[in-house]
Amino acid sequence: MKFRNFKVVSQVIFGRGCFNQLDEMLSHQRKNGFMVFLVDDVFMNHAFRHRIPRHSEDMLLWVNVTDEPKTRYVDNLVRQVKDFSARLPDGVIGIGGGSTMDLAKAVSLMLTNTGSATDYQGWDLIQNPAIYHIGIPTLSGTGAEVSRTTVLTGPEKKLGINSDYTVFDQIVLDPELIAGVPTDQRFYTGMDCYIHCVESLCGTYLNTFSQSYGEKAMALCQDVFLSPGTDSDDKLMIASYFGGMSIAYSQVGVCHALSYGLSFVLGLHHGIGNCVAFDYLEEFYPDGVMEFRRMMAKQGVSLPRNLVSGMENHSMEKMIDVALVLEPLWENALGKDWKTVMTRERIRQLYLRM
Ligand code: NAD
Ligand code: ZN
Repeated sequence: MKFRNFKVVSQVIFGRGCFNQLDEMLSHQRKNGFMVFLVDDVFMNHAFRHRIPRHSEDMLLWVNVTDEPKTRYVDNLVRQVKDFSARLPDGVIGIGGGSTMDLAKAVSLMLTNTGSATDYQGWDLIQNPAIYHIGIPTLSGTGAEVSRTTVLTGPEKKLGINSDYTVFDQIVLDPELIAGVPTDQRFYTGMDCYIHCVESLCGTYLNTFSQSYGEKAMALCQDVFLSPGTDSDDKLMIASYFGGMSIAYSQVGVCHALSYGLSFVLGLHHGIGNCVAFDYLEEFYPDGVMEFRRMMAKQGVSLPRNLVSGMENHSMEKMIDVALVLEPLWENALGKDWKTVMTRERIRQLYLRM
């Protein structure tokens, strides 16, 4: 048995208002260069933009995440940074949801590695350490702030750049930054965290490390979505972090595998794609799905339906391919003999219900 030697985020700051210390944190990293701020463009016309501690020499890139991050978009952002200065920046700071944080990770990696981001989709293909990079979530649930991957869609596949270099050097967890997220989006992304917990806790890869983080994250999600209080944003932010820690040392499962297919073919965002799939998975996760429905009712959120029924056959086949490639997810969920249990036909039948 070979154990994973798990790289963690080096520095974490947590608390309401801790974003105000960002300038001071950056001052320790400035070495006659400049910083690159990658910020979700949802804040472009928002008072928050004036709180970004940008110095005159720094670069601010508004990023658009209407589509989930593409390798092409990463290459384009890297080009813009290189055009901005002949020197490399001292740091890259990503401020936004999972998509923006993933873009920041990818840009920090691709500034020091040659070629296209597409070349590095996979496991441990990155050769050189990244530029110092900071993640600052404004939406909680994905666990992108703690993971060793940046999930990207390339021409061929939706697959992360997984490496120890991908992990943020610093994260800033300020619950005040998620206060304005619309209810539906907050629920979809929050459910990403809840589903991380269910899939980790029900999986065959489970161990005490993952269980400890997973159980606490799940309890926090239950508080947030079933018994909300004034500290819900604090709890959701920590749930996301703990849920990410849980799957980092185990794996996700059936829902994530199916959701990857939905997002590749239909362009559904990760959070909503997970919710769409999870609602049909009671045979695999009976308790989790029942509780998920209670949370959805309590939050007054509904899901899109009939997304797959009219789909052309080649799209369906592609969706099944994308889901089946994710072998560790299936093995975690269903055990070593998963291929005898989860056939193409069974996946098709699950998709047809969505
Ligand atoms: P997102 O980053 O895609 O953002 C969703 C929407 O919320 C966008 O319209 C965005 O502009 C908006 N938004 C963000 N912050 C807001 C705020 N404070 N107020 C109002 N609107 C706000 O959503 P997400 O669910 O956080 O991230 C999904 C992405 O994360 C996907 O691309 C997925 O592949 C990726 N992901 C990565 C990992 C990882 O480990 N790296 C894990 C899970 C998911
Ligand atoms: Zn997820």
